[in-house]
Amino acid sequence: MEIKEVKASAYLFLGSIGPAFESTTLGVGDKLALKAIAMAYGVSEEEVKKRYSKTGDLGDVAFELNRGEGKSLTIDEVFGKLKEIKKASGKGSQEEKTRLISRILQRASPGEGKYIVRIILGKLRLGFEDQFLLEAFSIAFTGDKKYTAKIKESYSVCTDIGELAESLAEYGPRALGRFSIKLGRPVRSMLAQRVKTFEELQERIPGKKAAEEKYDGERVQIHKDGNEIKAFSRRLENITAQYPDLVEAVRKGILADKIVLDGEIVAYVEGRKADGSTGEFYSFQRLMQRRRKYEVQKYTEICPVTVFFFDILYLEGNSLLRESYPKRRDLLEEHVKESENLRLARRIVTDNLEEIEYFFNDALEKRLEGIIIKSMGSNSIYEAGKRSWLWLKWKEEYAGGMRETFDLVIIGKYYGRGKRKGSFGALLCAILNEEKQRFETFTKVGTGFTEADAKEIDSLLSGHTISEAPKNVFIKSRMLPDIFLEPSVVIEVLGTEITKSPGHTAGQGEGDTGLALRFPRFLRIRYDKGPYDITTVKEVRNLKKGTSI
Ligand code: ATP
Repeated sequence: MEIKEVKASAYLFLGSIGPAFESTTLGVGDKLALKAIAMAYGVSEEEVKKRYSKTGDLGDVAFELNRGEGKSLTIDEVFGKLKEIKKASGKGSQEEKTRLISRILQRASPGEGKYIVRIILGKLRLGFEDQFLLEAFSIAFTGDKKYTAKIKESYSVCTDIGELAESLAEYGPRALGRFSIKLGRPVRSMLAQRVKTFEELQERIPGKKAAEEKYDGERVQIHKDGNEIKAFSRRLENITAQYPDLVEAVRKGILADKIVLDGEIVAYVEGRKADGSTGEFYSFQRLMQRRRKYEVQKYTEICPVTVFFFDILYLEGNSLLRESYPKRRDLLEEHVKESENLRLARRIVTDNLEEIEYFFNDALEKRLEGIIIKSMGSNSIYEAGKRSWLWLKWKEEYAGGMRETFDLVIIGKYYGRGKRKGSFGALLCAILNEEKQRFETFTKVGTGFTEADAKEIDSLLSGHTISEAPKNVFIKSRMLPDIFLEPSVVIEVLGTEITKSPGHTAGQGEGDTGLALRFPRFLRIRYDKGPYDITTVKEVRNLKKGTSI
């Protein structure tokens, strides 16, 4: 493969035409694709529909109808055409898209046509994630698998898979370590480790440290390049359009020309009250009302938000990822002009655990969920994409000693009875086995849902029904659900005990028993997490060893 084709192929492998943080949907639905297939192969739409209802996959229909008259297409050709299809917009765009699709299908071989249709519909589903592609890059571009970990590290900074592949193809291992943060291309967020006891905070980070309030909202990375302001979520989606009020506030309050800031968007209302408190924090659920495409402006008033900045990653052409936290915090304070919607994360700096305890109690009083302790050492760099021991979290539920939350992916449903007839009675949930890259069953969650929760979950799950357990799910026959679901929707669940279980497969070793979560209770849907961001087998094993559960 030529170097110039490497970038396009990297995107195409993932069924996309660009990096995750850019809008890459082609604006083509089943109806339009169906029309284009009929046009391409000179058959009626009825005929295509009939075949579609049999196979359930328009890619397969295109394969069947293709008479093998097309010549082979190049990657460049396909990629260029897909971009043209995306570009067509406005009046007459539907016809234009149909025409473009049908033309490329006529020129494609049966196999090519099948995959082109799937890519166009956003349903490529080759069954692997970007993480697998990184391993393939290591083998393809360095001749050895051993660079996989280093490539993964680079991918946390250069999150554009196409750019990453291209550099590796060109420079081999020399490309590694050269990547730096760039405006408009978000880096993966640095994450905090969790500790088992309050004392462990002191053991892990001895001496002087910062304790910051921990805000429960949506992680955001803001990139300002002159007049252009972009906001990215933790999953690197561009969420700028959801927050016009914040864009305005950043325009006014952040005077630097080129800057990248890291923070948390929270449903928060300013105002000093009689009791001396300075404002009110609302729940994460309330903030989720802002996750919308329509009536965005109206909701800026219904649900006002504030962003609490806690880091700065880039300033006027310079990366700050390798600067220490104290230096970064100084620069942050210098460059954020606080206002109603823009705040700095509140913090104290101390070496005294008792002071941190008071600070933690204050945070809970304000209805915050905890604190984050940050190292002040000279090595306290920003570790993009890493769950780092330089940051530790301490939350309310840890303090109880008997309560813990888990982020689980739903992989199956059991039918509901009584009040929940027509919906689910319980959800079969799994954790991630990182080593084996598969989902292992951990618990059946049947309580904690309001009717509205159940409805919302049902609607999120619709479209993810599959006929059997996918290869990346490890399940025992005695746990088989009534309906299998593709691992996609993540929920947060509170649990009180981890036990050994013959039914579940989580962390199953030599013997026949896995680990299971007892007395699980649904807390909320984690819209901001994907199946590969959930609680891992390793984390659960660590907890089991400790005393908190
Ligand atoms: P994680 O983000 O660690 O995977 P999670 O999404 O379940 O876990 P928590 O464990 O509740 O979240 O807390 C970590 C998150 O807290 C961070 O990812 C960040 O979005 C948020 N956060 C809030 N305040 C701060 C702060 N002051 N410093 C760093 N992160 C903060």
